[in-house]
Amino acid sequence: MHEIIKDICYSCTGDISQIHVDAIVNAANSSLLGGGGVDGAIHQAAGPTLYAACRQIREQSLPAGLPPGEVVSTHAGRLPAEYVIHTVGPVWSGGDQEESLILASCYEQAIIEAQRLGCRSIAFPSISTGVYRFPKKQATEIAWRVVYEYIQHTDAPMKIYLIFFTKHDEKIFLQATRTTGD
Ligand code: ADP
Repeated sequence: MHEIIKDICYSCTGDISQIHVDAIVNAANSSLLGGGGVDGAIHQAAGPTLYAACRQIREQSLPAGLPPGEVVSTHAGRLPAEYVIHTVGPVWSGGDQEESLILASCYEQAIIEAQRLGCRSIAFPSISTGVYRFPKKQATEIAWRVVYEYIQHTDAPMKIYLIFFTKHDEKIFLQATRTTGD
């Protein structure tokens, strides 16, 4: 684990479904009904009650699914976290389809939702950098910019954990923290 900003922001390499925080963010797809990658790992670890909660949201309030850049929260089933904040990242299609704005919105809206839920800590995966093919360096710079702005402009911010699946991905993030912000 790397401490990026003392007592507030950390990065680490690992499986986000095992992290002990108030809220973890899921890089879901619009259906909210499960997928591969981080979504699959979260549902696998959380068990069927998480799937049931997602299904209920689809039936009751999001019949067409969750649009990219937006969030919705549920309980976290058997996970060590208390909440899962589901978001849908942009699919990378060259960069001229507002992918960067949508990705920033995922991080911003998840932070807002975590605050609304009264969370004191939140963990993010690297949204859109798997099957959605967002370039990792660019994605990590966007994540860092949003997180840094939030920390700079908030009294007593939540603890924020950025979870990478490989050491290599975490290294890309650590480089971004050296060139932007503090
Ligand atoms: P997306 O569809 O948003 O691209 P993916 O789940 O395919 O979502 O990938 C997002 C990122 O999450 C990738 O960088 C991938 O390596 C990473 N990842 C996959 N599984 C896990 C996990 N269990 N914990 C943390 N990160 C994960």
